[in-house]
Amino acid sequence: MPIYRYERKKPAAGCPRCREGFEVTQSIKDAALATCPDCGGAVAKTPVVAAVGRSQANFDDRAKSAGFSKLKRLGKGEYEKQY
Ligand SMILES: [Zn+2]
Repeated sequence: MPIYRYERKKPAAGCPRCREGFEVTQSIKDAALATCPDCGGAVAKTPVVAAVGRSQANFDDRAKSAGFSKLKRLGKGEYEKQY
């Protein structure tokens, strides 16, 4: 069965599950979800291809080439700059 990815329409208002986006295995015949199963907030289906291609490595490369630095959180108030 295909996997569909859903994301909160307003990420700031979502619960931990839909704020990050979540995946649901659904039959093609099933209707798309309109709300998050956890908090009931409005969610939108996003293309599965995009979700599959978005690995952490790709994200790091994109962030780096865009000039962002990545900070790794070491503990409370402590960050290590990774690049
Ligand atoms: Zn939610």
